[in-house]
Amino acid sequence: MKSIHWVKFAILILFQSVIYGKPAYELKRNDAKKVVFITGAAGFIGSNFTEYMFEKYPSYHFIILDSLTYAGNIENIPLSIRTSDRFQFFYGSVTNYHIVEMLMQHADFVVHFAAESHVTRSICDDTTFFETDVMGTRVMMTALVKHARKVERFIHISTSEVLGTAEQEPMKEDHPMNPRSPYAAAKAGADRLVYSYCCTYGVPAVIIRPFNNYGPRQHLEKVIPRFITSAMKGRPLTIHGSGQQQRDWLHVHDVCRALDMILHIDQFDKIKHQVIHLGTGQPTSINQIAHAVQEHFQLNDSALSHIGDRPGQVSRHISSTQKAYELLGWKAEIPFKEGLEQTISWYKHHREEWQKAETMMYVPIYTNDEIIEVH
Ligand code: NAD
Repeated sequence: MKSIHWVKFAILILFQSVIYGKPAYELKRNDAKKVVFITGAAGFIGSNFTEYMFEKYPSYHFIILDSLTYAGNIENIPLSIRTSDRFQFFYGSVTNYHIVEMLMQHADFVVHFAAESHVTRSICDDTTFFETDVMGTRVMMTALVKHARKVERFIHISTSEVLGTAEQEPMKEDHPMNPRSPYAAAKAGADRLVYSYCCTYGVPAVIIRPFNNYGPRQHLEKVIPRFITSAMKGRPLTIHGSGQQQRDWLHVHDVCRALDMILHIDQFDKIKHQVIHLGTGQPTSINQIAHAVQEHFQLNDSALSHIGDRPGQVSRHISSTQKAYELLGWKAEIPFKEGLEQTISWYKHHREEWQKAETMMYVPIYTNDEIIEVH
């Protein structure tokens, strides 16, 4: 049975090399203790997580699947990792069952980040959001069902956006789901799809809902990098609406630690099929972030400009930290002020890396006033 899998894998590699003109690959598990299959690893959180895990577990092998959309950049993964024997990159989409299934069969751990992830872009055109976030997750789940005996743990990366604006605070895992943007609706579909596969097929999955992430290598379209790089370039820091919207900002390193804990917790049965929120429990408004960036770069008030609010805006998001602490013993460690300074420093020292993404920084949308604005 196993040899049939390897023959199929070889055919896929041959197919990939013919179609994409890429060199033929073979999976080099060698004597790896665990094979970790990560989707969307060329993006912001995925690349930070890959780096974190690669450094921490020298006996693990990493297989990566990413379709390198505008948000994915293979150079987000350090060269020393990309050229290592313990790392293999596969170019392809999570919507392609053949490649997903071929890779899934070798995995001990799976972490599924791949998604279209920008709210504003989903207002401009939501097609790929439903294709990747929902149908791609369905493909991941179908392949997981097939290899549920081999795969030990599967983490689905959902998002706090699925909840909509806070009805109760802090927002616990049983908070109603009222997605307010096409992105949030697509992620809510994926979130419940994974849950349904847990109930129907008993797959070894956990659903994680991180609140707003920030840190190195985040795409410039997202608010914190947009503020920082605008300040560096002498452009205005554009605030949507009043700027009073509050979010729970979580440094990406804290997310990596939590995911690591989930993959290594002794009693996985305790968390299997659970939804877990990851946040700090602390609210910070967009205005507070703008002022912190303004202060850091010593800008005067004319550097801040307000435009219309994003349609479907979420006004308040604060995570409950209770369940993550009770189940995992995890809590966020990086205070926002410190994390922001560290992030600013990263953007200051990596100008060449982020400058390539500048053309994809803004998205034109119709606002609530029915005028086109660039957000
Ligand atoms: P990102 O946009 O930076 O990266 C997404 C990655 O997925 C890119 O590398 C992209 O090329 C890849 N990708 C997109 N479509 C694909 C497809 N069809 N097949 C394979 N790869 C594909 O996103 P991010 O900010 O790193 O977010 C990662 C995950 O975390 C997403 O699922 C997102 O919904 C979730 N999330 C993000 C945040 C946040 O604040 N950034 C918060 C909560 C949850």
